[in-house]
Amino acid sequence: MSPITSLSRRHFLASIGASALTVPSLTDALGQPLSSQTGQDKKLGIALVGLGSYSKNQLAPALQQTQHCRLAGIVTGTPAKATEWTQKYNIPAKNVYDYKTFDRIIDNPDIDVVYVVLPNSMHAEYVIRAAQAGKHVICEKPMAITEKECQAMIDAARKANKQLAVGYRLHYEPFTQEVMRLGQQKVFGPVKFVEASDAFRIGDPSQWRMKKSMAGGGALMDVGIYAIQGARYVTGEEPVSVTAQFSPKTEPEKFKDVEETIFWQFRFPSGAVSTSTSSYTAGVERLYASCEKGWFELAPAFGYGPLKGRTSKGPIEMPVVNHQAAHMDGVCKDLLAGKTLPNHITGEEGKRDVRLLQAIYQAAETGRTIKLA
Ligand code: NAD
Repeated sequence: MSPITSLSRRHFLASIGASALTVPSLTDALGQPLSSQTGQDKKLGIALVGLGSYSKNQLAPALQQTQHCRLAGIVTGTPAKATEWTQKYNIPAKNVYDYKTFDRIIDNPDIDVVYVVLPNSMHAEYVIRAAQAGKHVICEKPMAITEKECQAMIDAARKANKQLAVGYRLHYEPFTQEVMRLGQQKVFGPVKFVEASDAFRIGDPSQWRMKKSMAGGGALMDVGIYAIQGARYVTGEEPVSVTAQFSPKTEPEKFKDVEETIFWQFRFPSGAVSTSTSSYTAGVERLYASCEKGWFELAPAFGYGPLKGRTSKGPIEMPVVNHQAAHMDGVCKDLLAGKTLPNHITGEEGKRDVRLLQAIYQAAETGRTIKLA
């Protein structure tokens, strides 16, 4: 993981408060023109692909608050949603696509960035098609179901000279950035032990999240990935080995296809260890780090906020932001400035996590310690 620079309230507010008009370049990192920059508002146009819960309840409302990007288009297979969204968000008909007409987005100068918000198994196809259409891409987490898919997505973006980001919104969230700093800069001494868990009780058993072919797995793929990220970003290290265990199912009929609860443990090069739980049957949301000279924690640690934190010295006080707006603005600000996106939110980072997700399943299935280094 890339080192986190010290992040005070002042620096953070300064960075997100910068005017959208202070655009230093009219080309992207690879020297290609960015279409929306010719408009008056200097905001990148984002098209959301898949208008489900996350697009509807988080991303579209957040895009009403962003300074460096705007909701410019939609891709949906449901005509009624197209009508509702075009009216609600004033989206012109020419910026509305379905899954068949999607590739025509190549001819649309209003769209700079395609944001893929589909079930996990569909991420690879739509990211690759978006890159082939000459657009920058943001892909939701988990980036894909297999490492091979992730590589194909990275290759497609590279071939198109476009950038690929993953929806790692917490990297732009101040409480999270603070625990990254505390851990990676060893403010309480070296991190010795991390407890990182994310779990909730899932509803509708017929949804795609309960189908292995669409989700890639159960709770681990969906929210366990936050615990993986948490252990990695507070230690600032990559795990060298993993052990894991499935918990016996308490609702075997409901969880026919995917795991209900899973536990895993990472070992890190420094000797630090982490333990994690992810589940679809009960809730927990906590990131705790015990260090040589103290401790720190976030609880809640991974949801939409407000997050809450404390250390062995007292409460963590940071500004509360809209995670999705901060994330999309952070990505688009860099794209507008012609910068290469930070490592910790790119396709390479998404691929690292997918590799770990697969290793955790392998460890749980075989009962063996899986070496990662
Ligand atoms: P959702 O089920 O609410 O929405 C999925 C969308 O995909 C729907 O609009 C649906 O119509 C569409 N779709 C197209 N083809 C489909 C098919 N064959 N089967 C099912 N749906 C199909 O899901 P969601 O909660 O919006 O999640 C979408 C993605 O966003 C997932 O990858 C998820 O992990 C991610 N997500 C991320 C966060 C975050 O905090 N970063 C939060 C929620 C979801």
